[in-house]
Amino acid sequence: SKAPIAIIGTGIAGLSAARLLHDSGQAVHLFDKSRGSGGRMGSKSAEGATFELGAQYFTARDRRFTDVVQLWQAEGWAAPWTPHLHQAREGQLAPSADEQLRWVGVPRMSAITRGLLADLPVTFSCRITEAFRGEENWTLVDASGASHGPFSQVIVATPAPQASALLAGAPKLAAVAASVAMEPTWAVALGFSTPLATEVDGCFVRDDALDWFARNSSKPGRDGQPDTWVLHATSNWSRQHLDHSREAIIEHLHGAFAELIDCVVPAPTFTLAHRWLYARPAQSHEWGALADAGLGIYACGDWCLSGRVEGAWLSGQEAARRLLEHL
Ligand code: FAD
Ligand code: NAD
Repeated sequence: SKAPIAIIGTGIAGLSAARLLHDSGQAVHLFDKSRGSGGRMGSKSAEGATFELGAQYFTARDRRFTDVVQLWQAEGWAAPWTPHLHQAREGQLAPSADEQLRWVGVPRMSAITRGLLADLPVTFSCRITEAFRGEENWTLVDASGASHGPFSQVIVATPAPQASALLAGAPKLAAVAASVAMEPTWAVALGFSTPLATEVDGCFVRDDALDWFARNSSKPGRDGQPDTWVLHATSNWSRQHLDHSREAIIEHLHGAFAELIDCVVPAPTFTLAHRWLYARPAQSHEWGALADAGLGIYACGDWCLSGRVEGAWLSGQEAARRLLEHL
């Protein structure tokens, strides 16, 4: 019988493709260098709280995506988040309510990719370094030198800079991926033993250093957790401070947050910093997905479309659709 399809990356793009292929009767096998699924749409636990250092929420504008988000809601994986939104203007916070529907995973963002993964075959903690094609099939090699395969097709569902190396067997696709610049984001989480005395749940800052901050515990399904806030730096500031220590990053962003927020900020009970090297594509594209159907290799991810959760999901659908069309 035919060899399964390999999918490298268990972020929302890889799982979107995996689900469509599986539901169409194709055997898939997923790989991820991390210990769990989600990628930039993942969650992190510390000190009794779970929070998101990457995607904070997502919006749904394309009909295909709004339909699937309804299904996720029915499964209990996703729910609307209705924060008290603010924005900063000249160092002052002002309410900034709007009508936009914003979604989060419940009780944590990673519930969505975990739900999609279900019991599909997957190998975690496995960084793929190479994909090469033999007479008929593909073989993957991981960072420890071990081989995996054979696979009939390969879908690369990683950020563009990591995808370009994995696409070496299809030089045209590799060149497209290599042309995509992705920007970094420093993210900081702060935990407090007493909830901060503010009604602000989320804030578009767009300042020099701070880009955004949010009260994680205002999201649905996070009741009873310590009051945890997530701060994101702007791409520019993150790039300029890429190699600074975690302590220095936390100190600076915590300071900027404490200065801006309209309440007393006591010393946090825990702090954490994470550097996303490939947080977002510098610009959006309209590629849908990349494909070399003759070779049987495809690439998808947020960088093929809008640089958001919705774009990543749509790109995964497109890669799977093009693969199925060529069977
Ligand atoms: P990823 O989620 O990056 O998935 C790729 C996966 O591939 C990862 O799990 C990674 O571990 C794995 N991988 C990489 N290389 C290898 C390898 N060699 N071998 C094996 N596995 C590998 N979007 C929104 O819509 N709303 C937001 O509010 C929002 N905020 C964001 C804030 C931050 C700080 C960041 C970083 C992103 C944010 N985004 C937001 C963007 C959103 O998270 C992404 O667009 C989306 O999650 C990308 O999904 P993906 O599947 O394309 O890639
Ligand atoms: P969205 O519609 O909530 O936001 C789009 C943009 O509109 C915001 O970035 C903000 O500038 C503005 N905006 C929206 N509502 C506002 C309000 N009430 N007051 C003031 N300004 C408001 O969501 P989206 O279009 O799905 O965008 C996703 C969000 O994820 C964006 O904020 C984007 O910056 C963020 N993101 C961050 C990264 C990263 O690496 N840090 C990566 C991808 C996306």
